[in-house]
Order: sequence, then structure tokens, then C-alpha cells
Amino acid sequence: MATRKTTARKRPSKTCPICKGTGEVAVSVRIGRKRRVVGQQNGLCLTCFGTGLAPTD
Ligand SMILES: [Zn+2]
Repeated sequence: MATRKTTARKRPSKTCPICKGTGEVAVSVRIGRKRRVVGQQNGLCLTCFGTGLAPTD
């Protein structure tokens, strides 16, 4: 029987809690002086910088 090596490596990453791994977050789009919200747009998640992974440090 072949024994399979178990790699004791740390898990490389956790899913980013902000964007839930998508790397994108919904951002409100406002225009004009009244800051009227005209809709939402996908923006880069600044927590993980679009990687979808939670920062480990
Ligand atoms: Zn993120």
C-alpha cells in the first residue's frame, strides 16, 4: 500500500471576508453635488486588492 504524504503546510489563504472571495465589492456610484446615488458598480476590493484572499499578515 502506498502511503500518501500528508503535507503539513499552512493553508495558504483564507477567503476575504469583505468580498467573499470574489475580489470585487459593490460600490455606490454618486453623481452631482447632491451625491445622488445612481447605482452600484463593482469595484476592486481594497481589503484583498482583488485577489479574493484575506490578508494573512
Ligand atoms: Zn476582498
